[in-house]
Amino acid sequence: MKTRPAICNRKKRFATREAAEEVAARAPFKLRVYKCSLCRRFHLTSRTKGMKLPPRDPGGSGCA
Ligand SMILES: [Zn+2]
Repeated sequence: MKTRPAICNRKKRFATREAAEEVAARAPFKLRVYKCSLCRRFHLTSRTKGMKLPPRDPGGSGCA
């Protein structure tokens, strides 16, 4: 994942993955830890857009 400098500067930085994961675990929502290629530290992101969800079956198939 490419991180823009502006985003990097705005985000909180963690020196270690452990520190970032600890904060992520306390958050009321799901956060992911990733290593930033700009500052070489760790950031948290709530984005899940990159994750693929199984497509919904619109037709309700399987009804015999
Ligand atoms: Zn960064």
